[in-house]
Amino acid sequence: MNVRTRIAPSPTGDPHVGTAYIALFNLCFARQHGGTFILRIEDTDLARSTPESEAAILESLRWLGLSWDEGPDVGGPHAPYRQSERGGIYREHADRLLASGHAFRCFCSPERLDALRREQSAAQQQPGYDGHCLGLAPAEVARRVAAGEASVVRMKVPREGVCRVEDMLRGVIEVEWTQVDMQVLLKADGMPTYHLANVVDDHLMGITHVLRGEEWINSAPKHLLLYRYFGWPAPVLCHMPLLRNPDRSKLSKRKNPTSILYYRRMGYLPEALLNYLGRMGWSMPDEREKFTLDEMLSAFDIGRVSLGGPVFDLDKLSWLNALWLRENFTPEQLADRLVEWAYNRDTLLRVLPHLQPRMERLSDFAPAAAYLVSGMLPLGEHSFAELKLERERLLELLQFTQWRLEAVTRWDRDTIFAALKELAAQMELKIRDFLAPLFIAIAGTSASISVIDSMQMLGSDLSRARIRHAIEALGGLSKKRLKEVEKAYAALSSPR
Ligand code: GLU
Repeated sequence: MNVRTRIAPSPTGDPHVGTAYIALFNLCFARQHGGTFILRIEDTDLARSTPESEAAILESLRWLGLSWDEGPDVGGPHAPYRQSERGGIYREHADRLLASGHAFRCFCSPERLDALRREQSAAQQQPGYDGHCLGLAPAEVARRVAAGEASVVRMKVPREGVCRVEDMLRGVIEVEWTQVDMQVLLKADGMPTYHLANVVDDHLMGITHVLRGEEWINSAPKHLLLYRYFGWPAPVLCHMPLLRNPDRSKLSKRKNPTSILYYRRMGYLPEALLNYLGRMGWSMPDEREKFTLDEMLSAFDIGRVSLGGPVFDLDKLSWLNALWLRENFTPEQLADRLVEWAYNRDTLLRVLPHLQPRMERLSDFAPAAAYLVSGMLPLGEHSFAELKLERERLLELLQFTQWRLEAVTRWDRDTIFAALKELAAQMELKIRDFLAPLFIAIAGTSASISVIDSMQMLGSDLSRARIRHAIEALGGLSKKRLKEVEKAYAALSSPR
């Protein structure tokens, strides 16, 4: 068999370490079998997908040293590899399911579906579509479609029996069909949902093995049913264990930086980060911790994946990174790496427009720019001593800012500023007083260049990590206090 694997990231934010982790295992599995590894962009969510995010994903994966044989940038026999360019294919396949009676049109309004969901949750029933439009006569469906009434296409799901999901690592998982919702396949705007597009593309692109995160297990019954409806063989499924925060919750940017851009900016080596991802739930036959991608490729065996949730631990990663730094570079090589990383003309040109007006001597540059090429800053409670706000209010301000920044999807100057200006108004603070603690958190001093420009240059994950660090420097928030702060945040009024 010609093994073909893929990753299928959705370009809706910063490139996630989880994407690199799944890519690494797909690449290794494909290579182990002399197969092909594909990158497909799942951008059917037009409102949330951006070309910037797609570019950042591709760039980050390449930076890590991962490469694919087919994809939107390199082409291949199954192009296009971007789902937004394949709309016609999905509509045609939805029509096929309608014609074979495996799918139906549903005219239910969002209001009806909301009310249904509320009723179900009040009655403590499993949420799901109730089959309201299942029995509509074909003539009525045709009439309503012709009259221009909005509708979606849903898949039919058996109401009895069990679905057997076979997973390469987990064996057989049985799910009762009554637990499976009549999933929407095609939305009212004619765009497919993830489920339809994913199955159709995996089939048309000849994917033989689907290695993906554990969070997709619940989708497997729907997918298997779609393969059956289309009369296609299903690929082998393999759900990889989720990466976890040290407290064992799912790795999330609230608790840990998750963006590959953060790790790059912090000065982790791509070799070390990739090595560390290879240690997530997998080990070399001789259990050695430090290895190259080539070594992993030649020793790879998917059977060595263990399912206990691997913890993505920054201290462990730093330890491994230090080994790489010490053992794999001559000073000449390290000098080249530093230049490539940040000590170069590009960085200077990004920073100088802000610093040039403030410089009296060339020697003023390095101290003023140091925080822009640093990791965490050496902050303590004393760093905030000169500010007017008392400690509790400071903590609240920093935590509010953290939450507000999490919601910023476009990390540019204007968007960041608008978000913070709104928050300052909601907190009834003058923007200057509001920003003062952020200067300390982000730059370590209130005498730096604009804190908004600084955040923009540092990137979202590093900015948030510095704010998190500042919160800790001020003594942190107890669980109880965090609850109160959360309440206060929810109660913020809209700005006048
Ligand atoms: N687009 C999905 C994601 O963002 C792909 C999941 C899958 O691999 O099936 O991860």
